[in-house]
Amino acid sequence: MEFDLSPEQQEFRRTVRAFAEEVVRPAAEEADRREELPTEVVRAMGELGLFGVPFPEELGGQGADLLTFCLAVEELGRVDQSVAVTLAAAVGLGGMPILRYGTEEQRRTWLEPLCRGEALLAFALTEPDAGSDAAAIRTRARPRDGGWVLEGEKAIITIPPESGSKVQLLTVRGLMKPKEDTEEGGGSGSEPPAEGPQPTAPPPAGGGPGFEGAPPGQPDEGGGDEPPPSD
Ligand SMILES: Cc1cc2nc3c(=O)[nH]c(=O)nc-3n(C[C@H](O)[C@H](O)[C@H](O)COP(=O)(O)OP(=O)(O)OC[C@H]3O[C@@H](n4cnc5c(N)ncnc54)[C@H](O)[C@@H]3O)c2cc1C
Repeated sequence: MEFDLSPEQQEFRRTVRAFAEEVVRPAAEEADRREELPTEVVRAMGELGLFGVPFPEELGGQGADLLTFCLAVEELGRVDQSVAVTLAAAVGLGGMPILRYGTEEQRRTWLEPLCRGEALLAFALTEPDAGSDAAAIRTRARPRDGGWVLEGEKAIITIPPESGSKVQLLTVRGLMKPKEDTEEGGGSGSEPPAEGPQPTAPPPAGGGPGFEGAPPGQPDEGGGDEPPPSD
């Protein structure tokens, strides 16, 4: 078994490390202090194509393997864990379920803007009283007037909506039927009924969570204190 990185992976790692040093590092401390997502940095990550690394080329991704994607998360995490988890969550938690289980239309609607760096995707599981015990989630989606009403509270969700950004709901579908729904004989509150309105959302317009409302801008230029790896 080959454990060494391929020449392409090594080149990719050098590119991301240089980006991390020049763009991510200079903004990291200030973003931490203000407890804010450095939106301009995330936008620059999108322009570099990092959000499309493991997605198929026909969706605008780079068609690379997961190890290559891990290299990007690792290199970003070396200088800023918040930015690294933003990439990991948007791609791994937000995008991968759509790639694996979504329809072709959902892939085109949600993954193409992610790959282009125009929108972010998040995954909202955790609630104040449901973390490790995912079956304890209380949030419910109920059909009403041809649309859906969401009732519940979420916590610790990576990529929160920044001020002025729009949160768009793709789909709410329960994988596990909560016990009390079964006992009540009703449908799962988080699973759409077979008939009636299905949860849908408009395609992202003008950016997505984390981008809207943020003025375009270049991150601070600046050098890092370590050069990119030579291997
Ligand atoms: C950086 C970061 C990013 C995150 N991003 C997201 C996100 O994008 N979307 C999202 O939905 N959530 C996100 N989360 C939340 C994360 O999924 C939860 O923190 C995690 O599920 C744990 O839940 P909790 O914090 O409520 O801890 P709890 O579930 O309350 O657990 C507390 C402690 O009890 C232990 N414990 C729990 N159950 C058991 C058990 N049965 N047996 C033994 N020990 C147990 C745990 O190991 C832990 O030490 C994020 C968290 C972090 C730190």
